[in-house]
Amino acid sequence: MKRGAPERLIDENGRRVDGRLPDEMRPLRVEAGVLKNADGSAYVELGNNKVLAAVYGPREPMPRHEALPDRAILKCRYSMLPFSVAERKSPQPSRREIELSKVIREALAPAVFLNEYPRTSIEVYIHILEADGGTRTASIIAGSVALADAGIAMRDLVAAIAVGKIGNVLVLDINGIEDQYGDGDMPIAMMPQRGEITLLQADGVFTPQEIEEALRLAQKAFQKIYAEQVRALKTKYESVKEVEE
Ligand code: UDP
Repeated sequence: MKRGAPERLIDENGRRVDGRLPDEMRPLRVEAGVLKNADGSAYVELGNNKVLAAVYGPREPMPRHEALPDRAILKCRYSMLPFSVAERKSPQPSRREIELSKVIREALAPAVFLNEYPRTSIEVYIHILEADGGTRTASIIAGSVALADAGIAMRDLVAAIAVGKIGNVLVLDINGIEDQYGDGDMPIAMMPQRGEITLLQADGVFTPQEIEEALRLAQKAFQKIYAEQVRALKTKYESVKEVEE
């Protein structure tokens, strides 16, 4: 075990540092339409992670020459606020944030009918208010709900979760401590209704069997995440309907 690590990440009863069993995800709460001035928005809590996503568009791209004749451009900016982590993070975009912005955009893009909106841009702004491992996957959950909340035509929502590895045990939805001191991290995103994976990354060493097992573990979580995403969107639109009536 590395220096500064907790004595063990899994105890003799098979419980993790936060009391979960290997196949348990953290509590998830999704809210849609939380910001008045954005075209679409969502707030996600996954365990201690707190994520806000705002969507603008489809609108004229800035600068205009970026416009594509046959489809919208999807832009995504992931930013971790200075107070979101234990050690103050500089507000300057880090290489990690630039990379995660690209990773999140590529995980969301397959779900959006970009060709429905030629010569426009669709922008997704993601702010991490608090981080505790798995912020990219929580961002994908939030980003896809915010896109749907903006009324953008989509093939499916995108659900996402990270599977980790502690020794040779696969654990669902790793937290910050497990991410820091564990042996592997595999963030996965999927369009749950279509059964198509839009993101698969891996840090650490996984056997082909472990990759299959990780996908099976994640699959169970995707159904729960999707149900919560849909619940959030329905709740938002039911409240809009009530106001209109
Ligand atoms: N983290 C941090 N400071 C940083 C970047 C990350 O404390 O500048 C923590 C944070 O809790 C984050 C975790 O490390 O969730 C894992 O970061 P990683 O790059 O693996 O991405 P994530 O798991 O959040 O998608």
